[in-house]
Amino acid sequence: MLLPLPDADSQPFWDACAAGELRIQTCAACRRRRFPSRPLCPHCRSFDHTWELVSGHGTIWSIAIPHPPLLPAYTDLAPYNVILVELDEDPLVRVVGNLVREAGAPINSVDPHTINIGETVQVVFDVPVNGIALPRWIRRGQ
Ligand SMILES: [Zn+2]
Repeated sequence: MLLPLPDADSQPFWDACAAGELRIQTCAACRRRRFPSRPLCPHCRSFDHTWELVSGHGTIWSIAIPHPPLLPAYTDLAPYNVILVELDEDPLVRVVGNLVREAGAPINSVDPHTINIGETVQVVFDVPVNGIALPRWIRRGQ
């Protein structure tokens, strides 16, 4: 499994994940959210921002099923899914991840052919290494 390499802009996001929270970078000037994190607001060019706690609820906006050739760390996991989740708080914020059966389950634990755009999901956190937590998604109400 490949792990994230946080930089100065994304470190607060990963710190929140490690604390079991999904926080989205939000411009302090115009209040628009943005993901992935970056230093400058694409709407008003302000550098000032906060990290807003969101519910972790969203809707599957898109899905992909990666096929080999894949990076060696993922070859044995195929077929698996990659989903794009539109957050309930902001339809313009879409977070990439994987739909899993339950927290801690592998990314191939859900048959990707059973996943539909429009399904509602909620975030869970997978902790493959102490101090690192990866946001994953499970079907809401399952
Ligand atoms: Zn702004």
